[in-house]
Amino acid sequence: MTHEIADTVAGRVREARRILFITGAGISADSGLPTYRGTGGLYNGRLTESGLPIEEVLSGEMFARAPEVTWSYLLEIERHCRGAAPNAAHRAIAELERDKAVTVLTQNIDGLHRAAGSRDVIEIHGTLNRLCCLSCGKVRTVEDFAGFEQPPACDACGRMLRPDVVLFGEMLPPAALAALEARLLGGLDLIVSVGTTSVFPYIAEPVYVGRACGIPTVEINPEETCVSACVDHVWRTGAAQAMTAVMQRIRQQALGS
Ligand code: ZN
Repeated sequence: MTHEIADTVAGRVREARRILFITGAGISADSGLPTYRGTGGLYNGRLTESGLPIEEVLSGEMFARAPEVTWSYLLEIERHCRGAAPNAAHRAIAELERDKAVTVLTQNIDGLHRAAGSRDVIEIHGTLNRLCCLSCGKVRTVEDFAGFEQPPACDACGRMLRPDVVLFGEMLPPAALAALEARLLGGLDLIVSVGTTSVFPYIAEPVYVGRACGIPTVEINPEETCVSACVDHVWRTGAAQAMTAVMQRIRQQALGS
């Protein structure tokens, strides 16, 4: 069964020229990163130290009212991400970009797709690697938050910075949405959803749209998700394991031909 689905997905990937990978916390879980919620999550089923649910602490409203509270959790999340390296799944997706048009739509803010070498990455929830000043607009790119004061200040004007991430209740970045639409309109040969439960409509929708347009769709996730019922191929396994098997098959095929 595992061999069969691995062969099928590898065949789809090999044949496709234009692929959209849609990724979520599950792909970074293989790099040892905790998800905020869900199995093994940082705030799984418990409230934060401030007694509030994580969605409230990390909301745009809280940041406007009490940015130091939001910042303390952003710093905690970043501390858990720090030092994490891309895993086999990130690397496989980056490697496929060498001879295919590969776009990554990710909900992850950990920067691991870019660290693995992917260039066409749509970070729909932003990234922790970029900070912007709310007063003077200066943008700063950072590897991590090591040595940051709390909350971090702009080195140009001294006012508070905020990371370029989408907080709960905030709008999605228009440029990211436009890039996603352009990829969908430009045509795709394959859509692969990896390590996401697809609870957000804008994450599930490309799969539905793809399916309706006759584009083959694949889901790689250990558990059932919101899009499981609608994809052509379901592979119940972890991201790194699946993508390793796919790349092995593609390499074997290349050697054999
Ligand atoms: Zn500034």
